[in-house]
Amino acid sequence: MRIARTAAELRKEMAALRSGGGRIGFVPTMGALHAGHLSLVDMAKSRADHVVASIFVNPTQFGPNEDFGRYPRMEAEDCEQLAEQGVALAYLPGVEDMYPHGFATHIHVDKLGDGLCGRFRPGHFDGVATVVAKLLLQVRPDIAVFGEKDYQQLQIIRRMVTDMDIAVEILGAPIIREADGLAMSSRNAYLTPSLRKAAAALPRMMQEAKRRIRQGKVADTLQWGKKELTDAGFGEVQYLELCDAATLEPVTSIVRPARLLVAAKLGSVRLIDNIEVSE
Ligand code: AMP
Repeated sequence: MRIARTAAELRKEMAALRSGGGRIGFVPTMGALHAGHLSLVDMAKSRADHVVASIFVNPTQFGPNEDFGRYPRMEAEDCEQLAEQGVALAYLPGVEDMYPHGFATHIHVDKLGDGLCGRFRPGHFDGVATVVAKLLLQVRPDIAVFGEKDYQQLQIIRRMVTDMDIAVEILGAPIIREADGLAMSSRNAYLTPSLRKAAAALPRMMQEAKRRIRQGKVADTLQWGKKELTDAGFGEVQYLELCDAATLEPVTSIVRPARLLVAAKLGSVRLIDNIEVSE
């Protein structure tokens, strides 16, 4: 596996990769890789000839009181996993390379980023949209794969790519879960053993809520779901909302493909999850 650490190195490596022909698939990550990330690489591999993956802990998508400083960084292990998974090129830019002195451009996607996580993480999705736009313009892949784990992010990226005419096909990959249903996340490593056990209440509640919502009980179910979480030891339940799967606007019944989305804090760890709910 080749490694590029600057945009200039990336350009050279991409020229070499492209010279042989074939489609390029791209998987952006923040590292601390787990089976969820590797499933994205597999999806890219199945749809492209060469896979490029990036690892960049993007400072602009973290709020001032968030975990940028302590976010897990394990470059050597990550690169080993990417190489084993068949990635052709890993792109690991530095912060100064992505945001050189004088950097002043930001991308804001209206509406889609306002609710859900956007309400609790001001500026987060601007940081995401900006860095993803940069990465897509640097790599210029034919396809790029993002996880449904970050469902709001996926919808924002789809909108941004359409609006900015970035010539890439965006693919969404299903959520990969632990044996007890907890969605895999680099942040799960923050959970103490007892909190990790309690975390299973989140996917359990989501499955049961989906069943209840399909019986038509939306408002009652949302209230029930929040209580389930606090009873299981969760602190702040930031949101539990049923939304239109494409626009992310709240819905009170399943009139079109809908998505149930949740964010809740367990100790100091913020967990998110979502599930498709159709009639
Ligand atoms: P991150 O490293 O957390 O920025 O995630 C990089 C990519 O992996 C994003 O597109 C995430 O949505 C995706 N991802 C993270 N966790 C999972 C998971 N459990 N299942 C599927 N995709 C995931």
